[in-house]
Amino acid sequence: TQLVNQIAAGEVVERPASVVKELVENCFDAGATQIQIDVEQGGTRQIRIRDNGCGIVKDDLALALSRHATSKIASLDDLEHVISMGFRGEALPSISSVARLTLISRTADADCAWQVSADGTEQNFDPQPDPHPPGTTVDVRDLFYNTPARRKFLKAEKTEFSHIESLIQKLALARFDVGFLLNHNQREVLNLKPADTQAAQEKRIAAICGSAFVENCVKIDFAASGLHLHGWVGLPTFSRSQQDMQFFYVNGRLIKDRLVAHAVKQAYQDVLYHGRHPVFVLYLELDPALVDVNAHPTKLEVRFREGRMVHDFLFQALHRSLADQRP
Ligand code: ADP
Ligand code: MG
Repeated sequence: TQLVNQIAAGEVVERPASVVKELVENCFDAGATQIQIDVEQGGTRQIRIRDNGCGIVKDDLALALSRHATSKIASLDDLEHVISMGFRGEALPSISSVARLTLISRTADADCAWQVSADGTEQNFDPQPDPHPPGTTVDVRDLFYNTPARRKFLKAEKTEFSHIESLIQKLALARFDVGFLLNHNQREVLNLKPADTQAAQEKRIAAICGSAFVENCVKIDFAASGLHLHGWVGLPTFSRSQQDMQFFYVNGRLIKDRLVAHAVKQAYQDVLYHGRHPVFVLYLELDPALVDVNAHPTKLEVRFREGRMVHDFLFQALHRSLADQRP
């Protein structure tokens, strides 16, 4: 079983940031409005994620760390099938096979919290009481301690942490309704309160993209033929033009897409500035039937059913908004 888990972990867990991604998505699934992420040594020493979500009942704790598909894997063919399906419902068992994982959780109506734990060799599935408040903490220590080949591929502490930080930035711009606190080596890196007004959202954007961006940007809010584009595009006076400060969400999901990048760049350069990469935080809302979400859950790819139409809409929306508000 642990071998199966470790093979699965190869799909789910590439580096500390992939652990953080799986765990934070679980917090979202649990309806959390506040998520605290504590990272030690780039996440290789420790990743601890605490949320105020619905929690897990005592009897389900062991289940959460168990591979649901395990009993069904009878042959190599089955295993390959599970791998190609991308391991939904397998994140916690996978992580626990390549690290020391402790899961503590309490539902709103429970008298106390309960804890279980597992690592590459041992599973302590008999729940122990714990004073944890309602919600869940997942504590992951010594990632890849038992898989030296994987451990070797980890980069410097700074690099691994920067992957985690940029992941949290991306998630935080997708979920203004959730508060995020990110600490690295006990130092506060991001402290983002839930943001339900535009002013609060811009405060969050300033914390992530810099206050110069928010002070020198054009607000976009454009709808036509069932598509809606809104967000912020930085003006050329805002000089920090970094490729990685381009955030584009389709129906709440971050994507990287050549067609989108082309439309944005074209409109931007047409109206404002030639030869520079625009900085932007943009949200496109459209009928989900017009979007093919890539089968692989960790990829940032989509395919638009009407690519030309989406491209032209984006170009038009940005061209008009930028031209109207040109300084
Ligand atoms: P999946 O999220 O695909 O179901 P995971 O391995 O990520 O699989 O999580 C297993 C299960 O553990 C989840 O289905 C959920 O029931 C429970 N769980 C994990 N993290 C949390 C959390 N932060 N809050 C509440 N329940 C959680
Ligand atoms: Mg999950």
